Amino acid sequence: MRLCRFNGNRFGVVSGDRVADVTHVLDRIPCASYPYPRNDAMIAALAEIRPDIESAAVTAEKCPIEAVKLASPVANPGKLIAAPVNYKRHLEEVRDQAELHHNNQKHAREIQESGLFLKATSSLIGPGELVRLRFPDRRNDHEIELAVIIGTEATEIAADNALGVVAGYAIGLDMTLRGPEERSMRKSIDTYSVLGPWLVTADEIGNPGNLAFELSVNGEVRQSANTCDLVLDIPELIAFASRYYTLYPGDIIFTGTPEGVGPIKHGDVIRARFDSIGEMTVNVEGTI
Ligand code: MN
Repeated sequence: MRLCRFNGNRFGVVSGDRVADVTHVLDRIPCASYPYPRNDAMIAALAEIRPDIESAAVTAEKCPIEAVKLASPVANPGKLIAAPVNYKRHLEEVRDQAELHHNNQKHAREIQESGLFLKATSSLIGPGELVRLRFPDRRNDHEIELAVIIGTEATEIAADNALGVVAGYAIGLDMTLRGPEERSMRKSIDTYSVLGPWLVTADEIGNPGNLAFELSVNGEVRQSANTCDLVLDIPELIAFASRYYTLYPGDIIFTGTPEGVGPIKHGDVIRARFDSIGEMTVNVEGTI
């Protein structure tokens, strides 16, 4: 099943090139009161409300997916976890471009040693919104990544069981301002985390370890890779993250980007495509 959020706060099921509006099913999400739990309420309730979503989609009003403005499929993630260099050839690229990475030796270490980092949840948008460059006079880069959306609370989980806590997958763009600041600052600028075009539930993607993907800018292919080339694969990455952070429903893991990272500027059109997920277009705005 493919779930999206669109046109402000509508909730939909995507089938082919159409989206069924099933927003009213969200009324069945159990009410929470303050202090709210550290999860996304829709993702936390997904297993329970899924039969209602499926039956509502049959009779719902449908419109062309092209006509809607897509928001992030997860509205309120508790945290955005991100893997730094997690593809071998990208690690070589980083080592070759030491100056661009401000000779920060931390960035050229293996992920097992350097660990993960967090991006601010306020940076999250959907593909229907614009990536807005805050410092367009500096270098800003695109990074396409498989995004894993956690479905079940988990801590210190074994890699063998890790895929069982996944709600679904989406395409993630980990937009990056280059410079000397901490990653958590450069990669957390408003609009610098893009999630879309929709969430594909985990049952549709049995094995996330063999998905080809590609990113182009203005029609020029910049990144083209396969998740089979990950250093830490998806189960290992979930296990690694859960040794440090309790994972809650709606938490998102950006799993790292392959080689081909390159600059973007005002007016650029980014197209990102992933096997078994789909394709999205994101526009870049940023004038000095
Ligand atoms: Mn990244």
